[in-house]
Amino acid sequence: MIPRIGKHVAPFLAIVAFCYLYIELPGLAVGILVGIAILIVLLIVLIVVVVVLQGASERSDDGQLKVFSESYHVSRGRFRRTVRRSGGQLIALDLTAKGPKGANLTIDIGWFGAKTPKRVFIHSSGLHGVEGLSGSAIQLQWLKSRIRSIPADSAIVLVHALNPYGMAWRRRFNENNVDLNRNFRAAGEFAPAEIPYWIAVNALLNPATLPLPDCFYLRAAWLVLRHAEHRDATDAEQLRVCL
Ligand SMILES: [Zn+2]
Repeated sequence: MIPRIGKHVAPFLAIVAFCYLYIELPGLAVGILVGIAILIVLLIVLIVVVVVLQGASERSDDGQLKVFSESYHVSRGRFRRTVRRSGGQLIALDLTAKGPKGANLTIDIGWFGAKTPKRVFIHSSGLHGVEGLSGSAIQLQWLKSRIRSIPADSAIVLVHALNPYGMAWRRRFNENNVDLNRNFRAAGEFAPAEIPYWIAVNALLNPATLPLPDCFYLRAAWLVLRHAEHRDATDAEQLRVCL
C-alpha cells in the first residue's frame, strides 16, 4: 500500500501546485505548460531522428554484409547471376574433383569488354580456397556497383575461385593437397630452391618414398640441433620466403 500511495503523491502535489500557481499567476502557469509541451515535442523529434539515422546505417551495413556467402556453391551462383545481369560473358571450367556431397566444381570467369583486348585487368579470388569467400564478396560488391565504360580495346576479367575444391571444402589446399599460392611451378617442374636450410630439411619434409617408420622425430631433432644455432637475418628471411 505504502509504495502505491507514494507513487501518487508526486503527481498529486504537482497538480495542486499548478492549480495554486494558475490562480495566483495564470500567465506563468500557462508559460510553464507551453514550455513543457515544447520540450516533449523536441524530445519526440530527437527520438525520431535517432531512430531514422540508426535504421539508415544498419541498412548500409547490411548492404556490405550481403555480398558474403556461406558456401562455395551459394557464392558461385550469385557470381554467375550477377555477371549475366551485368552483361558479361560467363565461362565455366569444369574440375574432375568434387565438392561436399559430390557437387560439381568449376572455375568461373566473368568477361567484360573486348573479346581480343590490348589491355586486360584481371581479378581472381580463392587461390587459397577458403579465402575465396571473402575474395568472392569483393567481386560481387564490385559487380553490384556496376562496371562502367570499358575502353573499346580493353577488358575486365573476374575469375571466381581459382581453387574451387579448397573453397568448397574450406581449406587452403587444392584436391592434390597443393598450396597453389606456394607453388607456381608447372607440373613436374618442382625443384627445391637454392636455400641452404631448405636443402637441409628437404629430404625430411619431402621423402622420396612413402613414409615408413623412419625415426622422423629423432631426425627432426637432429636437424634442429645441427642448424638452429646458425640462424641469421638473411637466412631467416630466405627461409620465410621459401615457406
Ligand atoms: Zn592466402
